[in-house]
Amino acid sequence: MAFRRLNELEVTGRRVFVRVDFNVPLGPDGSVTDDARIAASLPTLRYLIEKGARLVVASHLGRPKGKRDPKQSLRPVHALLERYLRRPVRFAEGIVGAEAEALSRGLQDGEVLLLENLRFDPREEANDPAMSRALAALADAYVNDAFGSAHRAHASTAGIAACVNDHAAGFLMERELNALGRLLESPERPFLAVLGGAKVSGKIDVLRHLLPRVDGLLIGGGMMYTFLRARGIATGRSLVEEDRIETARELLESREGAAKILLPSDCRVAEDASGRDPGRVVAAGSIPPEQAGVDIGPATLASMGSSLGEARTVFWNGPMGIFEVPAYAEGTIGIAREVAKATKRGAFTVVGGGDSLAAVARAGVERQFSHCSTGGGASLEFLEGRVLPGVAALEGVTP
Ligand code: AMP
Repeated sequence: MAFRRLNELEVTGRRVFVRVDFNVPLGPDGSVTDDARIAASLPTLRYLIEKGARLVVASHLGRPKGKRDPKQSLRPVHALLERYLRRPVRFAEGIVGAEAEALSRGLQDGEVLLLENLRFDPREEANDPAMSRALAALADAYVNDAFGSAHRAHASTAGIAACVNDHAAGFLMERELNALGRLLESPERPFLAVLGGAKVSGKIDVLRHLLPRVDGLLIGGGMMYTFLRARGIATGRSLVEEDRIETARELLESREGAAKILLPSDCRVAEDASGRDPGRVVAAGSIPPEQAGVDIGPATLASMGSSLGEARTVFWNGPMGIFEVPAYAEGTIGIAREVAKATKRGAFTVVGGGDSLAAVARAGVERQFSHCSTGGGASLEFLEGRVLPGVAALEGVTP
């Protein structure tokens, strides 16, 4: 890796700007409903505190589109952070400017300041150099631990790195890049990828980039029906992207696609996706015209399970069905369990994407994966072979 590691950065007594990913879901009462991303940033924050750094912590939350919105404030996160770090954390309402600067200069060694939601300022997402400079004015060194935002070129993830002399990747960033890098660079074989989720269009680049690198590509979720159609199979009212059938056909008919892509042999179908109809299992070639596919079937799960049983490396992204409806969650929960079993047998297993992580949590197997990626979009872009702007910014200036 061409960036500096956190333990190589001089931090004691210095103001260290730490970009984290606290983009957590909030419930209707404004409370944090899933704190996994906060927990994932704690090793970096605790390390810096122990080293006597003066922390200026910043994140975005939601999509406030450059305007202040009390419903997307980082206040609820602030309260949790105080609890996890077991110390008072100051809060800079103004994000940047005189007030924030004064607060940052008032920090003592080991003290922490949290900035309000970066995206309340329109200059953040515009990667405006004025914003990068304003953020840089709060710090003497910069640490990026926000892997989940590394695919965005924003002021706090990209522009700021050029304005602060000293920077490094945080522990989470490093862990994510190591795990995902291992998939692309030196996977132990057989290497299997399991891809699901709603649409082919969102995953086409990752499909293309992974296909030559894996030994098998198992497809489920809404995506599978476009692939079935490409094979000339009728799919009833299932989700199909008509304009992607040709792309799916090209992939299936390519030399590698023909050898590696595995489509489901059965699926669960239902009248609609409401969950009122628990549905029934049919062969993938016999989907009734008035029904929609909502999950993979048990034969598919069993065959995916046996493929996973042989795998030495596994990447999984995207649910196998409409798993938000409990009656259609069996396939997704089943895959979570099968991948967990593969880990126990010694395989290196990585799961990415919010929905897959939710399924992993529901199956209670979070600890049974080698790596749970905190960045859905960022992990996919990385596996598409793209340069992540947040990573490039760390590499660009570090010798
Ligand atoms: P993605 O963000 O592309 O990973 O898609 C996740 C979404 O795909 C989830 O909300 C699932 O409900 C949805 N999904 C999975 N399988 C199906 C299906 N068979 N039909 C419609 N939507 C699906």
